[in-house]
Amino acid sequence: MSQTIFVFGCTGQDGSLICQSLLQKRFKVIGFSRKSNPNRKNHESLGISKDFEIHQIDLKNPKEIKQSIDRFHPSEIYNLGAQSSVGKSYTEVSKTIESIVNATVTLLQSSKELQFDGKLFFAGSGEIYGETNIAASSSTLPNPQSPYGIAKSCSFNCVKFYREVYKLNCVTGILFNHESILRSEQFVTKKIIKNALKCIKNKNHKLKVGNIDIARDWGWANEYVEAMQIITRSKVLKDQIICTGTLTKLKDFIQVTFEKLGLNWEDYVEVDRQLFRRSEIHRNFGNPLHMKQELGWEAKVKINQIIENMINHEIDY
Ligand code: NDP
Repeated sequence: MSQTIFVFGCTGQDGSLICQSLLQKRFKVIGFSRKSNPNRKNHESLGISKDFEIHQIDLKNPKEIKQSIDRFHPSEIYNLGAQSSVGKSYTEVSKTIESIVNATVTLLQSSKELQFDGKLFFAGSGEIYGETNIAASSSTLPNPQSPYGIAKSCSFNCVKFYREVYKLNCVTGILFNHESILRSEQFVTKKIIKNALKCIKNKNHKLKVGNIDIARDWGWANEYVEAMQIITRSKVLKDQIICTGTLTKLKDFIQVTFEKLGLNWEDYVEVDRQLFRRSEIHRNFGNPLHMKQELGWEAKVKINQIIENMINHEIDY
């Protein structure tokens, strides 16, 4: 009989992609959502909406978590749910912290009380390092610069604490930015692509962006959900950084996108200072070496291909 795997946050970008990957590997997947009527748009887009069921859960309610674990005995749990926008976290501080810290702690504590012996994966974030002058590695001290980064940093420490002190099989993948055809419109990469396409039809259309001099380490989400599973299934659980190690300026992301569509970006892009963050991180990137040396995983899809994949999907859509 195939093993059962839980995915919390299954309707989001990574949740949907990991469900697809697990189903392809013939696992029985049970997804969880906060909503009684979850949005299955991403699952429909991947053609997997009929392949697994979704249960409603309040991740801050230990009783609900324990009942689910007791009932289905999952071998792995992927904790991917979050208010995942750094920008939004400045205005939705409590909601962000609640969705990340409270949910993670309740899951950890419930698993400990049940003596859960499966594996627990937590989606951490490179935002915990804040500004990185050199690529962040396991020895880099956290220095988060947003409510989102603070919440991820706290949860990262909680996972480490439960692993080291209570011997729970839990681990964090410290994920740097990653995109896919499922990226939602509240994120800048998707916003750039959608608006660039509008500029083809309407020469007066403008794309408003914040600081275009910031640089990020952008990877391809389909590869990152494989890395999550490799970390979770490794013999010795160890927190790992999942990244490409390559920095790209937002300005370059914009330029490449517009060039691919035969447009000159400077004719369409307006920098709006109101969109600058209060505590802007200029460079945020990680060191991919440990993942490669210790677990044999490395990101293969480069930024050009990421942009192309996202544009092609948007054109077909
Ligand atoms: P998404 O925003 O696409 O999906 C997150 C899911 O979490 C949503 O579909 C939602 O599902 C659930 N959720 C739970 N609480 C909330 C809340 N308060 N507000 C909004 N949604 C909530 O995120 P990704 O798939 O991109 O990311 C997956 C995980 O990886 C997240 O924890 C994220 O923080 C982390 N991460 C992502 C990075 C990236 O670049 N994508 C980089 C670093 C970390 P529902 O409504 O069905 O409950």
